[in-house]
Amino acid sequence: MNVADSEVVRTLLRGDGLREAESAASADVVLLNTCAIREKAEQKVWTRLRDLRGRKGKEGQTVAVLGCMAERVKDDLFRDGLADVVVGPDAYRKLPAMLRDREQSIDVTLDRSENYADVLPTRVEHTAHGAFVSIQRGCDNACSYCIVPYVRGRERSRSVQTILDEVASLYDSGVREITLLGQNVNSYHDATTESLKQQPREYSTGFVPFVKSDKKDSQTGVRFAELLERCAAAAPDARLRFTSPHPKDFPDDVLETIARTPNIAKQIHMPAQSGSDQMLRRMRRGYTCEAYRSLIQRARAVIPDVALSSDFIAGFCGESHEDHLRTLRLIEDVRYDMAFLFAYSSREKTPAARRLEDDVPSDIKKKRLQELIDAFRTGREARSRERVGRIHLILVEGAPRRDRGADLVSGRDDGNRVHVFPSSLPDGTELLPGDFAHVLVDRAEGATLIGVALRRAAGAGDRPLVDAETGAEFFIDEQTGASRWASEPPLVAAASSARPPVATRAFSTRATAGDAIEEILTAATPSAVLGIPKDATGRDARDAFLTASRLVHPDICADARAGAAFAALVEAYDAFAPSDVKYDISQAEFQGDALTTAAWMWDDAAAAARRHKARHTLDDDGSTGRSVM
Ligand code: SF4
Repeated sequence: MNVADSEVVRTLLRGDGLREAESAASADVVLLNTCAIREKAEQKVWTRLRDLRGRKGKEGQTVAVLGCMAERVKDDLFRDGLADVVVGPDAYRKLPAMLRDREQSIDVTLDRSENYADVLPTRVEHTAHGAFVSIQRGCDNACSYCIVPYVRGRERSRSVQTILDEVASLYDSGVREITLLGQNVNSYHDATTESLKQQPREYSTGFVPFVKSDKKDSQTGVRFAELLERCAAAAPDARLRFTSPHPKDFPDDVLETIARTPNIAKQIHMPAQSGSDQMLRRMRRGYTCEAYRSLIQRARAVIPDVALSSDFIAGFCGESHEDHLRTLRLIEDVRYDMAFLFAYSSREKTPAARRLEDDVPSDIKKKRLQELIDAFRTGREARSRERVGRIHLILVEGAPRRDRGADLVSGRDDGNRVHVFPSSLPDGTELLPGDFAHVLVDRAEGATLIGVALRRAAGAGDRPLVDAETGAEFFIDEQTGASRWASEPPLVAAASSARPPVATRAFSTRATAGDAIEEILTAATPSAVLGIPKDATGRDARDAFLTASRLVHPDICADARAGAAFAALVEAYDAFAPSDVKYDISQAEFQGDALTTAAWMWDDAAAAARRHKARHTLDDDGSTGRSVM
């Protein structure tokens, strides 16, 4: 949201003759657009202000603080001469005059009618293929921990036509991914425009409409599902996303619109905050965990393979160990593709700060947060592995962030997962940033998926087709009109020759042993990865066994003893590559030793498989499995 607001401010200041400086040190005016959601964000702003007033600022420089922190802290920002101008989120139109004339130094008035609908945002170049469009501001929900309603004011939506004009103009300028923004984006309602659907406001099944408003519940006006559909039509080849929604505003109409509109990303942010009904009540979220879980089920039923993300707070006021376990269970059960997890930090003026006791000690908050992060990562890795061997529609962004070698590019799929693949297609043509491509995923490295691009796609709605009987993916060849299957030998051969090499990781003591085991399973030369630290302990060792056990023995549960997981490995190994060597690993054996032995086992197993010149599966039930060759 702040990026979108900065773009509005850029337009207003350029209109008044100001130009961007090379650096903050050389600028006459420095603007800090701030967030107040968490204390840490505000601490960073205080540090930045002191830096600017110290040696890093320019003599006579004007420092203006904008956004939520300006709204919350107000004239305290003038303390010690740190800020010269303070402007809240609804007063940006006054900023040029405030900087020019300096007759007024603060304006933090909240204005229910301000939505900057007539200000066309000025974008920065590095977001050339992606852009944000603000459709709604403010929030009427009043969750007890949240500062947003106090610094952003009541909900108001832009008119449909101004949004469609902005979307169309972005599309015409070459933008290929548009994200609709709002504090409660899916409660969008333009009461001034006649709806083609004429439907009353609906909530997600089982959710309580805890904010009553005649205007909102009226029959007239355009709501979110209709806006989504019209935006998707205004930018036909571009991918459409939205954030940040509230779970109560996902009636079936919204889910069905996402499912049936090809260029809307099959991804939903579904902020849960907690898995405990008691905490949800205290947070004033307006739903029970059961209602939230059924919404997830409904979303997955209506939008096959939808990517889900969420927000969670660890250690909210009065959270017991049992409440925490309920949240852990929710994360484990749902297996989110992305999550934003934070320890609770009390924000002044919120109902929670006024009425509830922030009584969970900070060390417990940190411990619970870590457990939530671990559970999320385990689920995300499992989701990533499910994506291996399938084709994904990717928007090419450019060189990967981490240096992975020449000729590789990265891009994102519908679920915002990063994919890395060679920039050349099998026919030798090059993919460019802004292109959509069909990428066959080869393997997962943590959260990143590695693969090969099979072909350029026509746009965000050009998804691979799926054979109803076999589930196999294919697409239609533009030249011949014939079906081309992802597994077609010439296609795979061409793609294979372009496949990036298996990363040779230096296993430092910081690498998880789980990564090591996975590498052993996929590496062409397993002996190259035997440098697993013998002192791998705790989470590293647990990861190793979980990863290894899930790969070869899906029945091993998440909290199985390391010994049990290891026994499964031995069993699987013996099943297809029996040898004279006996690996005698007891349940109590030091985990580092077990890992090293496992590495030797896989080395032997791979050699045995090579000797037999065959591909072997490792499942003990004889159905499906994984090859080590
Ligand atoms: S819905 Fe979101 S923005 Fe609104 S009060 Fe709740 S957490 Fe804050």
